[in-house]
Amino acid sequence: MADCLFCKIIAGEIPGAIVHSSDRIVAFKDINPQAPTHVLVLPRRHIATLNDLTEADDALVGELVRTAAAIAKKNGHAEAGYRTVFNCNADAGQTVFHIHLHLLGGRKLSWPPG
Ligand code: 5GP
Ligand code: ZN
Repeated sequence: MADCLFCKIIAGEIPGAIVHSSDRIVAFKDINPQAPTHVLVLPRRHIATLNDLTEADDALVGELVRTAAAIAKKNGHAEAGYRTVFNCNADAGQTVFHIHLHLLGGRKLSWPPG
């Protein structure tokens, strides 16, 4: 989608610190990290919010989650723990409307979130 920041990063029009790239998925470092590891894992295809997913996307969502787990393991967080979060729309604080799974690790994370 023309106006989407994350589509532009995926297309290489805006720089991004890419940590994983495959046919359907890209992962890059968050520009404003909230933990020592803060990576965004997203589909190459533009999907605005979780509300726009269909049954046909089930495998894609599984791939997003498994990719986040693999990056967490690679960064040494598998045993200590880490968090994955999808924010959806205003009350959750979604600011970029191209779905992305936050992967946060490398420090103790409190619960519940703010
Ligand atoms: P949301 O609030 O939509 O769940 O998360 C959007 C995330 O994108 C935020 O954590 C924010 O720091 C990150 N972000 C915003 N602009 C950029 C950018 O230009 N590059 C990267 N790498 N991350 C960004
Ligand atoms: Zn997009």
